[in-house]
Amino acid sequence: MICASLTSPTMQTALADMKKACEAADIVEIRLDYIDSPAVKPFVENRTKPIIATNRPTREGGKYEGDEKKRIALLREAAAAGFDYIDIELDSVERLGEHGASKVIVSYHNFKQMPDNLREIHEQIVAAGADIAKLAVMATDICDTLRMFDLLRDVSIPTIGLCMGEEGVITRILGPRFGSFLSFGTLAEGKQSAPGQIPIRDMRGLYRVNDLDAETKLYGVIANPVAHSMSPAIHNAAFQEKGINAVYLPLKVADVRRFVAEFKKLDMQGYSVTIPHKVDVIDVMDEVDEFVSDIGAMNTVVNRDGRLCGYNTDCLGALRAIENVMGGEEPLKGKRVVMLGAGGTSRAIGYGIKARGGKLTILNRTVSKAEKLAGEIGCEWGPLDRLTEIEFDVLLNTTSVGMHPNVDDTPAPTDVLKEGMIVFDAVYNPMETRLLREATERGCVTVSGVDMFVNQAVAQFEMWTETDAPVERMRQVVVERLKVR
Ligand code: NAP
Repeated sequence: MICASLTSPTMQTALADMKKACEAADIVEIRLDYIDSPAVKPFVENRTKPIIATNRPTREGGKYEGDEKKRIALLREAAAAGFDYIDIELDSVERLGEHGASKVIVSYHNFKQMPDNLREIHEQIVAAGADIAKLAVMATDICDTLRMFDLLRDVSIPTIGLCMGEEGVITRILGPRFGSFLSFGTLAEGKQSAPGQIPIRDMRGLYRVNDLDAETKLYGVIANPVAHSMSPAIHNAAFQEKGINAVYLPLKVADVRRFVAEFKKLDMQGYSVTIPHKVDVIDVMDEVDEFVSDIGAMNTVVNRDGRLCGYNTDCLGALRAIENVMGGEEPLKGKRVVMLGAGGTSRAIGYGIKARGGKLTILNRTVSKAEKLAGEIGCEWGPLDRLTEIEFDVLLNTTSVGMHPNVDDTPAPTDVLKEGMIVFDAVYNPMETRLLREATERGCVTVSGVDMFVNQAVAQFEMWTETDAPVERMRQVVVERLKVR
């Protein structure tokens, strides 16, 4: 069940929000402690879904600062009025007294950390006579969530278990799958009653929280930070489009070694890996493919019967995007390819071009870096201004020149661009860079960073599911997300 937690400041806004929440969620929590002069009856009279009364004191992360007796009296009033559930803190439950037909949620909050004695606290809640237990604790590491899932698996009474904070987001998505009585979400961005809450729109549409079951396969992106990642939107849309029972999670990971070791128990089927873990994660793989060994960075993990295998689909995605527009067998073989840049992306793509038989020249602002990378790959190198002197068929920009906000910059003078050339730009923000616009005007065939980005995700999806990816749907998601940035 998805529960909308309402943090409206007045009775008027709270009643309006409850109306919306009754449409969006399965159950609604009225945070009386957020409301100025709260009254309980209007909620009961106007609700169309079960409602929970919560009047949280500041000591447990709420807003209520007044007299304790009055705080609890309002909860009793809510019970008498017909609220379906009354939430009362473990340290106050003895004082609740008569609560009519309302069920009692006995709750514990820890805004600092995951306590060592989580199970003991749960036992205290059970002993206090709770109908439903609630434990909300702060995750300081994503591995804390595993303890919450363990607890949820073998509890004796209905239990709401969640970890707060960005590291705990997956408990809000997977909680019900592991048996949590409900999971809290917000009606809109910025209206959280606790850190890490996500909008109900995403819980339903993106993560399909209510549809996840024991068979649901688990995937996710390992990153730090992770909130900006487009990958959950792309992969969840792809799973949905193909009717695959799988969910893709945002995983904020500080220590990739510990994460990979501990998360084996969740039997996750695959990961995307991004900044800052693309290099460190290699050491904890059971095997990696040859591109990964050469490049020294990876972005994809496939779980093959418990063996974790590492790949680099940044490389495969760029190659696929470029080869798609060239067509034919081995289109890069023998082609003169100039790559501008000698950073991380250049490294991934450079090895790929070489492996496909392209005649590669690397040009970079810092010439020593071009020399070093070219030495490893085995190709020509030089400074950026060499571009006007050499002949080529394919131009790849792997520098960040032209990227937002410097959208008027370009890494290549217009007159080197000739009709029929292939011009690729790794930059995807903006979707059409100045380089690509000028290349199109000059009759070149262009490949955008969006194509690379979509294709790296397509390659991941196909490795994980061994089915064709819904490429157009995935592209649509990326384009929509980039447009609103
Ligand atoms: P990186 O490792 O930091 O490398 C940056 C490269 O850009 C270096 O070669 C650097 O040259 C060069 N550069 C930066 N500013 C420059 C300037 N003003 N003039 C000339 N050269 C300049 O970055 P990265 O991770 O490889 O990312 C590079 C670009 O690829 C970014 O725009 C990123 O968004 C994009 N990207 C796209 C995808 C995709 O899927 N489409 C994936 C990954 C990255 P020096 O060595 O001289 O500093």
